[in-house]
Amino acid sequence: MNRTREPELILASRPTVDGAGVRLRRGVGHDRRLISRFDPFLLLDDIHSTDPDDYLAGFPWHPHRGIETVTYVLRGEVAHGDSLGNHGVIGSGDVQWMTAGGGIVHQEMPRRFRGDMRGLQLWVNLPASRKMMPPRYRSVAAGSVPECRLEGGSIVRVIAGRCNGCEGPVADIVRSPEYLEVAVPPGGEFTHPTAPGHTVFAYTLEGEGLFGPGSSRQTPADHVVLYGAGDLVTVRGGPGGVRFLLFAGAPLREPVAWRGPIVMNTEEELDLAFREYRSGTFLKSSPHP
Ligand code: FE
Repeated sequence: MNRTREPELILASRPTVDGAGVRLRRGVGHDRRLISRFDPFLLLDDIHSTDPDDYLAGFPWHPHRGIETVTYVLRGEVAHGDSLGNHGVIGSGDVQWMTAGGGIVHQEMPRRFRGDMRGLQLWVNLPASRKMMPPRYRSVAAGSVPECRLEGGSIVRVIAGRCNGCEGPVADIVRSPEYLEVAVPPGGEFTHPTAPGHTVFAYTLEGEGLFGPGSSRQTPADHVVLYGAGDLVTVRGGPGGVRFLLFAGAPLREPVAWRGPIVMNTEEELDLAFREYRSGTFLKSSPHP
């Protein structure tokens, strides 16, 4: 018998400045008291602006260790380069995922885009046993992200995981999270099974919707909906429909020590990482760019 999850927490994403002065909204990660409730997810950033001055400063060369990141550009272009020698442009609809593992140094620079630029970055924590794994990087072109139409009219882009027989191309994230982009038409209902015990949350992009059968208030855009226990998610589209991202993953239940772009298990590991970065011994795989 299915038990439908109800929202446990609904929070507006918070205006934040990061990188070299990028104005963005932080959906997950602005309140460290909530880390364990979003486990294994650490951070969700949303760059959304019609003004290039909000994002052109970008995220110049910086290190990461201990995490994986998934960057999804809905509209716009982000140029990137990293210490493994990868470089290129992530364009509209493209997905890039990166395992920082034991260490990577990269830059992520949004380019001037006419109109409404929007890009999201998710951080997924690595378990202690894999934090120092070799770094790796993949990119997926928009056309390789399957789109499926469900009964009831919802359209789902499957970035990672499965939905209705469609399998997402982002398959190598250690924690095997599910990452869906869902559009529910006005009054339509989206239903999706999620493994019991997994952390599940949604992030609203456009429109508004009801995120649980017991919800009476529409949740508007730019909100995080963290679900409570259960094994099924249902979302009903509001009068103009609703578009959102849905994330699910198994929690790690390990201590989190987090400083800036580096997430380890202990303060000593953080100190070591920053010491190594300062002294030029941070990268284990290739020279500093
Ligand atoms: Fe980064």
